[in-house]
Amino acid sequence: MMELAGNVALVTGGLRGIGAATALELAQNGADVAVCDLQQTPEGEQLLDTIRRLGRQVLFCAADVSNFNRAQEVVAEVVRALGHLDILVNNAGINRDHVIWKMTEQEWDSVLGINLKGVFNYSRAAAPIFRTQGRGKIVSISSVNGLRGQPGLSNYAAAKAGIIGLTKTLAKELGKYQVNVNAIAPGYIETKMTENLAADVKAEALKGTVLGRLGAPEDIAHVVTFLCTEGARHITGEVIRVDGGEYM
Ligand code: NDP
Repeated sequence: MMELAGNVALVTGGLRGIGAATALELAQNGADVAVCDLQQTPEGEQLLDTIRRLGRQVLFCAADVSNFNRAQEVVAEVVRALGHLDILVNNAGINRDHVIWKMTEQEWDSVLGINLKGVFNYSRAAAPIFRTQGRGKIVSISSVNGLRGQPGLSNYAAAKAGIIGLTKTLAKELGKYQVNVNAIAPGYIETKMTENLAADVKAEALKGTVLGRLGAPEDIAHVVTFLCTEGARHITGEVIRVDGGEYM
């Protein structure tokens, strides 16, 4: 299906993992795709080549999402290079886990700066464009840990819960301009972010799902893509768990 033909999407942290699967699926559905990430990588080059071979336009912008001014520049660059902006996927994120009595100020600040302020930065840059054109989609990647809390993840859970408050507020502020703003709360997804977690954490997550499987990046990409289609036009301010039943 080419339901997103004519749309331009910007995916933050889009060179690998959930972001890469999302960039690819949006392109497979017809969207031109801009990706921002800290720096280009060989696997990132491959992804962008694959998207180009689909006949889509591609743009890469090196950016740290925690940088407010750079977000403004990236969004302006996307509009200049690809013509407009219709879809923003706030995906970039990191984890720096420690129980609260060991968590450093740096671990707190970096996770809040990237995982929460990064979502503000890019939403802030895209919102005037979406408001003026009277259409747009924002999809931000939260986490089930933002809903339930999780030992060792106070910084991460606070940032991911913050995304939910931000999403609902932006949905209310931008709804009258026909902008849909939603969040997805993934459970455990097998990516580089989770590959170094202890075996017992992974086993526990698997045991916790009612479907008996861990998620793949594509499981999130499918839902992001759906939220960007006409079929989801009446969904806004929503947080969709995609976790195999891990948290309910
Ligand atoms: P990965 O670590 O595989 O990918 C994250 C991507 O974001 C990387 O390309 C990384 O670049 C990029 N990135 C990191 N920091 C920045 C930054 N400051 N500015 C720009 N880009 C940056 O993670 P996932 O694909 O697993 O995670 C994607 C999102 O999904 C995150 O927000 C995460 O919190 C969320 N999530 C993941 C879950 C999981 O189980 N995997 C569960 C729930 C939510 P680089 O390679 O240079 O570091």
